[in-house]
Amino acid sequence: LIIIDGKFVSSQIRSELKTEIEKLAEKIGKTPGLAAILVGENPASKVYVGMKSKACNEIGIKSSVVKLNENISEDELLNVIKKNNEDNNIHGILVQLPLPKHIDQNKILNSISVDKDVDGFHPYNVGNLIIGNDTFYPCTPYGIIELLDRYKIEVSGKHVVVVGRSNIVGKPIANMLLQKKKNANATVTVCHSNSRDISEFTRQADILIAAIGSPEIIKADMIKEGAVVIDVGVNRVEDNSEKGYKLVGDVDYQNVVNKVAAITPVPGGVGPMTIAMLMKNTVKAFKLINNINMI
Ligand code: NAP
Repeated sequence: LIIIDGKFVSSQIRSELKTEIEKLAEKIGKTPGLAAILVGENPASKVYVGMKSKACNEIGIKSSVVKLNENISEDELLNVIKKNNEDNNIHGILVQLPLPKHIDQNKILNSISVDKDVDGFHPYNVGNLIIGNDTFYPCTPYGIIELLDRYKIEVSGKHVVVVGRSNIVGKPIANMLLQKKKNANATVTVCHSNSRDISEFTRQADILIAAIGSPEIIKADMIKEGAVVIDVGVNRVEDNSEKGYKLVGDVDYQNVVNKVAAITPVPGGVGPMTIAMLMKNTVKAFKLINNINMI
């Protein structure tokens, strides 16, 4: 049994990036910059943006959080993005989702320079992902690919079942694993809330990826003996602890762990990888903008 340690892999990636950034700084006298745009007071968004920014600064990416009022108009927000698109010290831009209801999310994502789109949500980059061109891969699916790679879990020819079809996890991971490429080339099935009896599909999975957002909905009898399980879900459930809640995944870990070959825990699996891949994308954007292919 392998417990896939995302916390450890993410710390490895951070230290690799830190070294790379130091070398780049020596070579060209510049360091990467990330603008994280936060609109409003959503507590979870504030925490996420704070974590991302702090992690970036720790490895030498200059990260600033652009805090904007909940009531900002769409035009004003577009203007903030335009300024960052034009700022030569900014190489990556992320707009923390969700945005307030009066703002058209698609319009905002469309306005980010495709060269600075480190979240990989711009339709141009999504299109390239589907075609199989090199692009900015969305951070969570990119983190999953990286985990599978670093744990040498073969994907080629395997049946991967993805439960969830969101634009940030389900759809991109399904498309990435479908490509005729290294670390991919799988047979991919995607299930969602309108699928009839998802267990019929999950039981066939050599690799199961759960990105549902429903606590412990994937039970042991829905999983094939010896499967690899990647649990993307992060769900709060109330308990008697001081905090009053604990985090659980979409998979019933306690029971599933006994029959799988490998599994990601929650927390400490996919979660920490998302931030690491954001930093990797920011360094990639920095290198592309400065015309550096490798060091
Ligand atoms: P989402 O946008 O809510 O999408 C959930 C998907 O699951 C939808 O496609 C939905 O189907 C499907 N679904 C819901 N209930 C289902 C059911 N009973 N059976 C089958 N499919 C079902 O969520 P998301 O943004 O992809 O996130 C999913 C989970 O991952 C959440 O817990 C989130 O917190 C977590 N997450 C973690 C990270 C990380 O870094 N670790 C990053 C992103 C998300 P429909 O399309 O039909 O609605």
